[in-house]
Amino acid sequence: MPIKSRIRTIPHYPHEGIQFRDVTTLLKDPIGLRTTIQEIVTRYQSIKIDKVVAIESRGFIVGAPVAYALGVGFVPIRKPGKLPAETIGCEYQLEYGSDRIEMHVDAIQRGEKILLVDDLIATGGTMEAAAKLVQEMGGEIVECCFVVDLPDVGGRAKLEKQGLKIFSLCQFE
Ligand code: IMP
Repeated sequence: MPIKSRIRTIPHYPHEGIQFRDVTTLLKDPIGLRTTIQEIVTRYQSIKIDKVVAIESRGFIVGAPVAYALGVGFVPIRKPGKLPAETIGCEYQLEYGSDRIEMHVDAIQRGEKILLVDDLIATGGTMEAAAKLVQEMGGEIVECCFVVDLPDVGGRAKLEKQGLKIFSLCQFE
């Protein structure tokens, strides 16, 4: 398990009762980083992908090298107010309150095949919002790709019910 065994768990972070899965220990390790990127690239290299769209901020660390290796473009989805040109946005619910993500309106052309990337799926709220932005711009989502899935939290099942394909390199129960 070159990937899962390199992910550190931090108990009670950022809140009491949360087991935070810390991918920095995976990324700092040369074999961990290379295996992570290679496994994703291997999965998608023979599938038509036009762009990788990744979610701030840990999604960028994985998404950019994957886009480079696949020879396709990279699009950032960012927190509010960070992108300089015209954007579309989507609000989503957090455990307490709500958050919003944004993407440039000219980032995706209608009909482009999009690979969505983030480091981790828990409730699926963040990726659900990202998928809405891509679909609003006419992008066709090939798959949503994560390093880590927390299946007990239910995000994967929720997004699959909406017709999205989900892939993760490892799971923590
Ligand atoms: P979701 O929207 O509930 O699926 O949460 C996923 C988002 O929160 C991702 O962008 C993750 O980066 C972040 N996140 C939630 N829990 C963790 C964790 O345990 N480790 C790292 N990131 C997390």
